[in-house]
Amino acid sequence: MAVPAGRASGQRFTGLSILVTGAAGEIGSAVAGALVAEGARVTLADLDATVLTQLADELGSAAHAVPTDVTVEEDVERAVAEAVAFAGGLHGVFNNAGIEGPVGPITELDLDRFAQVLRINVLGAAAVLKHSLPRLDAGGAVVQTGSTASVAGSAHMAPYVASKHALLGLTRVASREVAARGVRVTAVLPGPVHGRMMQRIESGRSGSGTATATTPTALDGGRYATVAEVVSAVLFLLSGEAGFVAGTGLLMDGGRLA
Ligand code: NAD
Repeated sequence: MAVPAGRASGQRFTGLSILVTGAAGEIGSAVAGALVAEGARVTLADLDATVLTQLADELGSAAHAVPTDVTVEEDVERAVAEAVAFAGGLHGVFNNAGIEGPVGPITELDLDRFAQVLRINVLGAAAVLKHSLPRLDAGGAVVQTGSTASVAGSAHMAPYVASKHALLGLTRVASREVAARGVRVTAVLPGPVHGRMMQRIESGRSGSGTATATTPTALDGGRYATVAEVVSAVLFLLSGEAGFVAGTGLLMDGGRLA
């Protein structure tokens, strides 16, 4: 079933099956809730089985939890298969699981932790693409969570920036491979989002350095994005309203990189 263009906002996903990774997290859970509110049947995938199960209980019969480690290919394969079984197909994927990784200067890089960021943010996302793209028919869409770090540097965040640049590359490649059969792959590229991940970075819980480029300035309105703003962008990109948007990232940084 294709994602129909031109449906009134508010019912854009009625009857559609969407897989959300990183679904226990701040952005993933908000997107999952908004999709259910717009009529979707949502399969929730995340490493955190406890939060995932609570969320599935809150969202009710339109949600199905599949504890998943995106770095384990069998887990990803099972999550996709369960999404298909739960909702009778697969029409969209929010490929969102990710970590911020260690914060600190390149001269102090912990290469094992760098590799772990790449395993989750790049290889995990690639595994989701590998197993979900064959299940998506014309009208289907994948939205990946990149970042302004997909297109710009940020001091003291080398692993994260490298991983999010790679994720945008994957977005472009996947789009070129599936566009001819009517499947769209895009990315949302938020700047820092007001919430828990930024609290971890700012409080130093993600490492010893200071992520200087994340400090809000007058150029981005002096604030971070809100989760609600990211949700709106993701639902737009997943929906048929974005029917001619493919292979690109939607930058949402309040204008900072303009
Ligand atoms: P979050 O930490 O609340 O959510 C991330 C989720 O990913 C968590 O629930 C975590 O359990 C899950 N996860 C981590 N490793 C996993 C794995 N191996 N397998 C499955 N799930 C795994 O953070 P968030 O802000 O909701 O982040 C979601 C996405 O948004 C990430 O890709 C992040 O890089 C991106 N992003 C966040 C910001 C921000 O400022 N918060 C800005 C731009 C982009």
